[in-house]
Amino acid sequence: MQVASGIHQFQTGDFNWYVVEAHGRLTVVDCGWPRHYRALLDGLEAMGRSVADVEAILLTHAHADHTGFAERLRKEAQAPVWVHEDDHGMALRRGQLPWFALVSRSWHPHLFGMLLHGALNGVFNLPRITEAKTFADGQTLDVPGRPVVIHTPGHTPGQVSFHFPDRNTLICGDTLVTLELLSGKAVTPQLAYEALNANGETSRRSLDKLRHLGEITLLPGHGKPWTGHLAEALAEV
Ligand SMILES: [Zn+2]
Repeated sequence: MQVASGIHQFQTGDFNWYVVEAHGRLTVVDCGWPRHYRALLDGLEAMGRSVADVEAILLTHAHADHTGFAERLRKEAQAPVWVHEDDHGMALRRGQLPWFALVSRSWHPHLFGMLLHGALNGVFNLPRITEAKTFADGQTLDVPGRPVVIHTPGHTPGQVSFHFPDRNTLICGDTLVTLELLSGKAVTPQLAYEALNANGETSRRSLDKLRHLGEITLLPGHGKPWTGHLAEALAEV
């Protein structure tokens, strides 16, 4: 589904990832679970593209529900994986998730459903990313779509948001979500559930780096796209 100019959202279960098109070349942002690779191939075919058109693979952070098929795509597209320097170590380790927080709350039916979706789509067979390049805050990446990196730590130390200025769009990973993970309710942008953040206070402080973006389309890691005035939405977070 095209959700902004040249940006396609893949909603596989409650896990989002994106394909950004620029002049026929592609950047994939986040990689769901390993078995979502099939959805990528189908989606690329529907767009008249193929894996060979993928030039870069960007990770908003190194949690397993965002790194799923990154290694496979890295090899098959011969395209580099990019991640923030503070999540680089985590990206090279297998199966990184706040497991205790998730499993101890898995009696919430919606969260249980999400874990089940993960189980059916490769959580027990997570490939390890063997090579990743790093970027830092403020860097404009020379990849299709030319996103600007905004380091918005808290959910993980290297959590980032990718700003596409010419498309007035922000792919923010789990910096902000529009889905309440425990209940499955659609919500206006808010922080991920507190226990799932490595550092809640840091998450809140990171929002100050987004306020100036104004009227924008927000594409989160979980939940539907949201368009509006970001400073107004953040005032309610
Ligand atoms: Zn996530």
